[in-house]
This record gives sequence, structure tokens and C-alpha cells, in this order.
Amino acid sequence: MKLKNLEMMLQRLSGFSKPRAALEQYQTPAPLAARLLFHALMKHDIEDRSVCDLGSGTGVLAIGAALLGAGRVTGIEMDEGAVRVAETNARLLDAEVTFVVADVRDSDFLARAGRCDTVIMNPPFGAQKAHADRPFIDAALALAPVTYSIFNAGSAPFVKAYTEGRAEIAEKVGGAFPIKRTFAFHTKDVQEIEVEILRLIRNQ
Ligand code: SAH
Repeated sequence: MKLKNLEMMLQRLSGFSKPRAALEQYQTPAPLAARLLFHALMKHDIEDRSVCDLGSGTGVLAIGAALLGAGRVTGIEMDEGAVRVAETNARLLDAEVTFVVADVRDSDFLARAGRCDTVIMNPPFGAQKAHADRPFIDAALALAPVTYSIFNAGSAPFVKAYTEGRAEIAEKVGGAFPIKRTFAFHTKDVQEIEVEILRLIRNQ
């Protein structure tokens, strides 16, 4: 599949029906999702790999991974309403993904969850609740040796310090995240924020 085709397919997916600001529910725009997934594909981290999407929301990253030939895809999301949308989205594109309603901060769940080869995620950036991305980073490192995650541009030094001794940032890819007016506190119709995709490799 070509990048453009994946992008067009992901464009068809439904977004959050009732987005919740506290959970920072922003669907990854199809071009950014496709870019992250293709990058991971080229690094041999998707095809025939078991892939986990943390905070899978309406499923765009998980579904895209399945379409690119991932072996087993699991989406983990605490909002049941979002999981229902994700399941409908997966059916629409005939993608095989298992969505699980769970909180990534739940250590019992993480202990029980199977390991995955690759984590992909677009965690809350911490705009509503400072450091909301930390439990996602911790969970990712617990579950998989390789993680691709979207962060606010300029986060790399923080992520590097936070994962010191546990992981290395192997790569950084820049991108844009256009956010449509979603919540009452948004003042523009579209606000474009600069983001970076980091590839983290867990230390042996
Ligand atoms: N991965 C999706 C959604 C990104 S928005 C996409 O790329 O489009 C971040 C998601 O994380 C939201 O769906 C939110 O409900 C979920 N989330 C926030 N905190 C969580 C937690 N502690 N455990 C699991 N999911 C969480």
C-alpha cells in the first residue's frame, strides 16, 4: 500500500462523538497517522509484528497498523465510548484489531497484558493535566522494546531526561497537527501545532 492510499483510507474514519477535554481526546489527523505508521513500517516495526496502541481513541493508529500488515494489533483505551467508535471504524475498513477498555496507569492490567513488539501512540500532551504523558511512556516501555509516539515539538529533551537509563531516543521526525475547534476554550477554527514523532528504543 502507498502512503497516500493509507492516508485516504484513514480519512474515512469517524472521530470522537463526544470528545472529552480532560482526556485530551484529539484524533490524530490521517496524514500524520499515515506518516508515523509508514515510518515504523520502513523500520520493520509493523509488518508481522504485534503492535499495541496506547490510548487508542477512535482507533486511527491501530487500524492503520493492521492495514499495513501487523500480525496482531491491540488498542488500549479507557473511554468505552471511544472504543465503540473504534470498533465501528475497524469494521468499516475490514481491519482486525482487538480493542480493550483499560487505563494505562493500571499496573495490574499491564502485568497481565501480553507483551508487544511495537507500541504506537498519541498520548495526551499534558495540556489539561501536567505530565499526563508520563504514564503512557512508562506503560510503553513496560510493554514493548520499540515505541513510536507523538509529542509536542520540543519535547525530546524532556523525554530523554524522563527515560534516562531506560531508553534512548533513536529518531525524531517533525510533523504538524492541525487541531479543529473542538472545545469551548478553543478560539480558532483550526490551530496547527508543531509535533514530533519520537522512536524510543528500550535499553536491554
Ligand atoms: N490514539 C488516538 C487518540 C489520541 S487522544 C488517535 O491517535 O487518534 C489520547 C487518547 O488517550 C484519548 O482517546 C483518551 O481517552 C486516552 N486516554 C487518556 N488517558 C488515558 C489513560 N490513562 N488510559 C487509557 N487511555 C487514556
